[in-house]
Amino acid sequence: EFEWSGALEAKLKEVFGHDSFRLCQEGICNASMDGRDVVAIMPTGGGKSLGYQLPALMVPGCSLVISPLLALISDQIMHLHEAGVDAVMLTGSTSKEDSDRIYRRLQAMGSGPSVGPEIKLCYVTPEKIANSKKFLTALDRLYKAGKLARFVVDEAHCVSSQGHDFRPDYQKLSTLRERFPDVPILALSATCPAQVLWDLTKTLRMPKLTMASAADVDGTVLFSTSLYRKNLHYYVLPKPAGGNDSIMAMRDYILNNHKNDTGIVYCLTKKDCESVAEALTTLSDGKIKTGVYHADVPDTRKEMLHRQWREGRVKVVCATIAFGLGIDKGDVRFVIHHTLRHAKKSLDGFYQESGRAGRDGKDADCVLYYRAQDATRIASLTYGERGGQEKALAMLAFACDVEECRKIQFANYFNKSSKLSFSSWATAEEDTLTRCGHCDNCTRPPETLEHLGVRGRVAAW
Ligand code: ADP
Ligand code: MG
Ligand code: ZN
Repeated sequence: EFEWSGALEAKLKEVFGHDSFRLCQEGICNASMDGRDVVAIMPTGGGKSLGYQLPALMVPGCSLVISPLLALISDQIMHLHEAGVDAVMLTGSTSKEDSDRIYRRLQAMGSGPSVGPEIKLCYVTPEKIANSKKFLTALDRLYKAGKLARFVVDEAHCVSSQGHDFRPDYQKLSTLRERFPDVPILALSATCPAQVLWDLTKTLRMPKLTMASAADVDGTVLFSTSLYRKNLHYYVLPKPAGGNDSIMAMRDYILNNHKNDTGIVYCLTKKDCESVAEALTTLSDGKIKTGVYHADVPDTRKEMLHRQWREGRVKVVCATIAFGLGIDKGDVRFVIHHTLRHAKKSLDGFYQESGRAGRDGKDADCVLYYRAQDATRIASLTYGERGGQEKALAMLAFACDVEECRKIQFANYFNKSSKLSFSSWATAEEDTLTRCGHCDNCTRPPETLEHLGVRGRVAAW
């Protein structure tokens, strides 16, 4: 119990409408309220944003949030405005008028006792810190007036060139500690192998890490939870050989199990996205409302798609893996991989993409369609790529395994591939070796194994 505990819980309910904290949320809030530097690693959908949004409302001044993508920022701002929180964003797409007004408000906050309501949360992309003298000057003033409450670095793995989403502008964030030494930093990420964690604390100039559970906590407090999510149900389904047959199988799966649900279908190529989306709509007589997302879709169309998806006018987005970071939709009930994951990140990527399902904590399905020909396609794509074949093999072994529980397969993979990872697969209370009881392999009647003859397939490859 801390002196702020009661107030914290009241605000959780009053502003965000949640009855209780999830995972490490409460710990993160407490460490923040205590003025600590914090690194928090929680799975996608775990609720990392609350770890800074709630404390921001409890203390005087403005918390500055650095986030890599405009889409991510606008989503957050929209939710915060709905909750009645005074949050603003300064990005490349902010109009001159809006940005003038925000600067005026920041200036007012920075010149003594502020008149009018304070900006509680200000979101920027890292370029602002790297390139805008004007913005840094505004921060200087806030800092001197004691109105700079905290720096939040979202998707903090982008700092590291070892990470899967390196952004050079994130490296300039070293300025934060150098220029504003007294402002505490909170770094957030979903996947953070040891090397990335090391890079990010070094770049952000955060002091040595101590696990939050340690007896003596000093320096930066590290929170990290299990990657395993109970509400996700994994299935590998056989993929018929013909192009249309595979779409019809998918159509039947969606209409039988997820009629009118929101979902994502990950496709291998941009062309596949287009053709799969079109075929799904046609073959379902328009019952499945699809949209398309990949790197070549123009920005305005992307924004429109996000909006239609949020409003439920588009239900199923057919996308390449470019559709990712910007998604903040809790009720995605299924994620389908129409084709075996491209090998570069293999099972890690597959896990991350399928993890976009069920962020609201309710049950969701993660489906992989597999046929032997796709293995050949992947093999040729990864030919000559260093480590590519090995990665592809991990994905393939997952696809072909009809016996081992999916949870245990992931556990074996993650525990081996990231020996020193701080985002461990399971915490002590979640035994990695107990079958999940609800994946395809846990629910498959044993007599069906015999005629699948799948073990032969693995050996052959
Ligand atoms: P992350 O950034 O970790 O991927 P978010 O912060 O975007 O996750 O939160 C994911 C979803 O979880 C959001 O829809 C949010 O409203 C919901 N959420 C967060 N905290 C709670 C909570 N304590 N109880 C219920 N839902 C929550
Ligand atoms: Mg997030
Ligand atoms: Zn299982």
